[in-house]
Amino acid sequence: MIIVPERAIPDLLTRDASYRAVENVFAAMASGDAYNFPVIREAIGHEDALYGFKGGFDRVGGSLGLKAGGYWPHNLDKHGIINHQSTVFLFDPDTGMVRAMVGGNYSTALRTAAASSVSINHLARKDARVMGMVGAGHQASFQLRAALEQRSFEKVIGWNYHPEMLSNLEEVAAEAGLPVEAGDLDGLAEADVIITITSSFAPILLEHHVSPGTHIACMGTDTKGKQEASADLVASATLFTDEVAQSISIGECQHAIAAGLITEADISQIGAVINGSHPGRRSADDITLFDGTGVGLQDLAVSAALVDLAIEKGVAIEVDL
Ligand code: NAD
Repeated sequence: MIIVPERAIPDLLTRDASYRAVENVFAAMASGDAYNFPVIREAIGHEDALYGFKGGFDRVGGSLGLKAGGYWPHNLDKHGIINHQSTVFLFDPDTGMVRAMVGGNYSTALRTAAASSVSINHLARKDARVMGMVGAGHQASFQLRAALEQRSFEKVIGWNYHPEMLSNLEEVAAEAGLPVEAGDLDGLAEADVIITITSSFAPILLEHHVSPGTHIACMGTDTKGKQEASADLVASATLFTDEVAQSISIGECQHAIAAGLITEADISQIGAVINGSHPGRRSADDITLFDGTGVGLQDLAVSAALVDLAIEKGVAIEVDL
C-alpha cells in the first residue's frame, strides 16, 4: 500500500492537476462511467464532531474508494489543528485490495476550487472581467486563486459576513496584481462571475444583487439546511451541478425544490457541458448557476493523481499491509 502523507501534498498537487482530475471525473459521471455512493454523515455525539464517508467508483479512471472524515469544531482551539479532517482510501477495482491512503485536507480545498473553476471555464462569458466573492474563509482563498486563472479578470469585489476576514481575499488578489473592492451586496451587480463559499444557513445573494449574464458558483452549501442564494435567484438561473441527487437534497437547489419553484429536470450535470451533450450557456444574458455540492469522486480523482505524483517524485511511502 502507498501512503501519501498530508505534509507532502502542498508541494505535489498543482491547481492544474486538480482541475484536470475534476473535469475528467465530472465528464465520466455525466457519461455514466462513474458514480457516487450515498453519502453517510453522522453527528457522533463526541467533541460535537460530524463524521462521514463519501465514496464512488470511476470505471474509466479506475478509481474506487472513499473519503472518511468530517468536521471537529474544537480542533483549532484545543489541538492547534484545522477543524476539517479527512483521509482518502483507494482500492484496486480488480481485486478489492487497498491501494493507497492519502491525506485529504489540503486536497479537499484544491478539488473544491477546481470544481468552481471548471464551471467558470465552461459557463462564464468569455468577456468576464469582474470577479465577485461572497465569503472570505479558508476555502475562499483557494476558490479565488483558481477562479482568477479562468478569465482575464481586472477587479475583485468582495463581501463577507465578517468583514475583518476580507484581508484573506486581498492577499490572493494581490498575487494576481488585482485590487479588491469591499462593498455591500448591491455592488455585486457589477460582477460577471460570483462565487459563494460561506457556512450560511440563510440566503445572502438575492435576485436583485445579480445582473443578467452572470455566472454564479454556489460552493458553500453542502448540508441540509444551509443556503447562500435565494430560492428565487436559483429558480431564475440555468442550473448545473456536479450531482443532481446531492443538489436537490444537500445543495443550493434544495430550497427551490422544496418551494416548488423548480424540479429535478431543471438541473443539468456540468459533465454534460464538458462532454458536449448540453450546450451550457445559451446567451450572453443567461444567468448560469453551478451548485457545487462536493462529491466523493472528486476526492478519489485528485487522490489518484496524487499517488502517481508521489511515486514520480519519490515521496510515496510504501508499506506491507
Ligand atoms: P471557514 O470557517 O474558514 O469560513 C466560513 C465562511 O462563512 C466565512 O467567510 C464566514 O465569514 C462565513 N460565515 C460564517 N457564518 C456566516 C453566516 N451566519 N452568514 C454568512 N456567512 C457566514 O469555512 P471554509 O472552510 O471556508 O468553508 C466554507 C463553507 O464551504 C462551509 O460551509 C463548508 O462546509 C463548505 N465546503 C464545501 C465544499 C464543497 O465541495 N462544496 C468543500 C469544502 C467546504
